[in-house]
Amino acid sequence: MTTQEWIELSDRYIMATYKRFPIVLTRGLGVHVWDSDGRCYLDLVGGIAVCALGHAHPRVVAAIKEQAETLFHVSNLYHIAPQILLARLLVENSPFDKAFFCNSGAEANEAAIKLARKYASEHMPGRYELITMQDSFHGRTLATVTATAQEKFHVGYAPLPEGFRHVPYNDLPALEAAVTEKTCGVLVEPIQGESGVIVPDSGYLQGVRRICDAKGLLMIADEIQTGIGRTGTLFACEQTEAVPDMITLAKALGNGFPIGALLATDRIAAAFVPGSHGSTFGGNPLACAAALAALETILDEGILENCRKVGEYFLSKLGALKEKHSRIREVRGRGLMIGVELTVPGAELVLKCLQKGLLINCANGNVLRFVPPLILTRQDVDRAVGILDEALEEK
Ligand SMILES: *Cc1c(COP(=O)(O)O)cnc(C)c1O
Repeated sequence: MTTQEWIELSDRYIMATYKRFPIVLTRGLGVHVWDSDGRCYLDLVGGIAVCALGHAHPRVVAAIKEQAETLFHVSNLYHIAPQILLARLLVENSPFDKAFFCNSGAEANEAAIKLARKYASEHMPGRYELITMQDSFHGRTLATVTATAQEKFHVGYAPLPEGFRHVPYNDLPALEAAVTEKTCGVLVEPIQGESGVIVPDSGYLQGVRRICDAKGLLMIADEIQTGIGRTGTLFACEQTEAVPDMITLAKALGNGFPIGALLATDRIAAAFVPGSHGSTFGGNPLACAAALAALETILDEGILENCRKVGEYFLSKLGALKEKHSRIREVRGRGLMIGVELTVPGAELVLKCLQKGLLINCANGNVLRFVPPLILTRQDVDRAVGILDEALEEK
């Protein structure tokens, strides 16, 4: 089938929830993907911060193959060995005590919202409201899209569930002022991803923690995008002194195999008892085997160190590009979560880069977002920045 034929079938059979680029990706290896015409691309999107170890990583592939031949799926009515091992590894490498597994980021946040309400119903009756941040992104289910404080995602979905209040990001006085007798917690991204890699002031997360402590609120960090090494440490919160009560994970957790997780301290997790929450697929053997292999690889093979080093290098190269091109307003980020804010919309530049064999993403209209595999090398960065430079020259 030709690419054009694939695209016609796609338009005929798939609901149009995404505006898609006119290519069909059919194969991936490491930091590269190939389309149905055999063209190769350097992939700095990585499935949007998902493929931390790149495509077809041998350890993840081997783990999936072995688990698929052993036990594909069983119900959470039984104990599941890969799920137990994955939970232990996450707990041993975090300040949390217990994990709950699901299948996506939205579901992880949905679980966090439910656990916060459940805990509050038992320990602070009458409190159920969560404060979330303007321009946040927490998912697309009705509750998580309501937590997502961006009007454009709410259009047409009224009535939205109750119990969410929105305040500006990076604004501690506004947060403090928004707390009422109904507030039970705060949900915050350590760095806002979807709205264009917004890095808060240093001290912001500690400030959120302080307000939560002072008012008796739960602090929930949405590390779905920042977690699993993206910012150079396993979790972005580690780079601050703020220890949340819960964090949510998904994206890179399974390196592309769908899986999400909620981690919490024992004190909070105890509010979930048999029957409180569940998921047929959540924590299934295959997903957990994939995530276990991915997480072990990230921890044993120097991936975090590579992310920090190559991330610094990338930032410096982009900084130099900014000196050269007035259409670059700002370069920012941590590790390999990098945003380049433009003075103009980014769509055309993204398409130009694609035509030159480089996949990048544009967030919030004018921010080029780089969330590549964490195995990226300096040579890959040189190549990407070269293509970007060329694309910026052309206009
Ligand atoms: C991607 C993302 C989500 C939603 O994850 P899905 O798997 O698409 O449901 C939630 N929060 C943040 C910060 C994200 O980046």
